[in-house]
Amino acid sequence: RKISEKHDKVFVTGCLDPNVQKDAPRANAAFVVLARNKELDGVLESIKSVERHFNRWFNYPYVFLNDGEFNSTFKETILNHTSGTVEFGRIGPEHWGYPEWTDMNVAKEGIRKQGDAAIMYGGMESYHHMCRFYSGFFYKHELLQKYEWYWRVEPEIKYFCDITYDPFLHMARSNKTYGFTIAVKELKETVPNIFRYASAFKRTHNLTSQGLWEMFVEPKEGFNQDGTAKKDAKLEDLPKDDPKYADRQKPLPEDILRTEPGAGTIPEIDPEAMEGEVYNMCHFWSNFEIARLDFFRSRLYEEFFEMMDRSGGFWMERWGDAPIHSLAAGALLSPADIHYFRDFGYRHTTIQHCPANAPARQLPREPYLEQTTLHSFKDRGAGEKAMREEDEYWAKWDGEKE
Ligand code: GDP
Ligand code: MN
Repeated sequence: RKISEKHDKVFVTGCLDPNVQKDAPRANAAFVVLARNKELDGVLESIKSVERHFNRWFNYPYVFLNDGEFNSTFKETILNHTSGTVEFGRIGPEHWGYPEWTDMNVAKEGIRKQGDAAIMYGGMESYHHMCRFYSGFFYKHELLQKYEWYWRVEPEIKYFCDITYDPFLHMARSNKTYGFTIAVKELKETVPNIFRYASAFKRTHNLTSQGLWEMFVEPKEGFNQDGTAKKDAKLEDLPKDDPKYADRQKPLPEDILRTEPGAGTIPEIDPEAMEGEVYNMCHFWSNFEIARLDFFRSRLYEEFFEMMDRSGGFWMERWGDAPIHSLAAGALLSPADIHYFRDFGYRHTTIQHCPANAPARQLPREPYLEQTTLHSFKDRGAGEKAMREEDEYWAKWDGEKE
């Protein structure tokens, strides 16, 4: 199905006078930053960028979260660079780490094996905790209870276009639930079984696709992601009774549906079990997110997280919060609920989205994935130059301020 302008449009074209926004009403929203003390430099880089390009006009509050205690250097430095109010919170053991029903030895052994297999972050216990926290707990933190919307910020991110309108208010006005700016493919080896569980959840809850699920399903041979036939394929070349897809409705084996406690319940991969559907590894890159918290606080999301969690996949595999959020959206939302922030220039470490160099200036006609991976990688050269120039500009600005 096409994600077209029928479902989603850019909120504002061109720059508004942000000073006009100064006295406009604000949404009930905050930035959420999970970080450790040692990441202060990276966090500062992110905060400076957020403030320069958006928050110096809008002054939204920040919530900083940490499984440890933020030290005074961290807190003071942050307070010196933020225009909104700031709260620092500690994440309790009920939201971070192994739940009591997990067999910790099995989990640790699973993580050790992923380290041996050189799976990206697979051997890093804290990374598994972080992914599980962002999948099922951040929105339950007491400091976030009063908020309706959040904007996720990570260390070492950069915005390189001014954001002169209020994205929260526009999300609300347009009835949007979840906003992203980059979609990429996940590393297969980090999530070998994630899709079996997600699609089992969908099936056991009798959820029929509202049109977004297809974004995460590998297209059949001869077809594009949007369901249209590939141009170069002749009609007679397309698979007719391909046995690969004949068993779409076949029920899953019992073991995949089990939800009893304990890590290590993930069985061997059986592609047959996926109702004929195969995960294409696409996910919204969740280090940037602007979303409604009540999506995560909903009964169905909670049941989704619970089922995923009970499978042991946060330990026995290295499920990221990005594919978790994305597949939940796929199962529970429709394309109209999603907003693609195609106008946000954004970079995190090695991947970026640059509207100036991208077809993203136009309304998307192709599905998100093709849109965003395309300019994440292809326009790197032009983006590098733009970013160097921007660095020089702001270095000068900083100099003048002092
Ligand atoms: P990457 O972007 O996937 O390479 O992962 P990051 O290392 O950036 O981690 C994602 C987010 O979680 C960032 O905001 C980190 O600061 C945060 N994070 C990761 N691990 C921990 C941890 O053990 N404790 C805390 N407090 N934050 C963490
Ligand atoms: Mn990161």
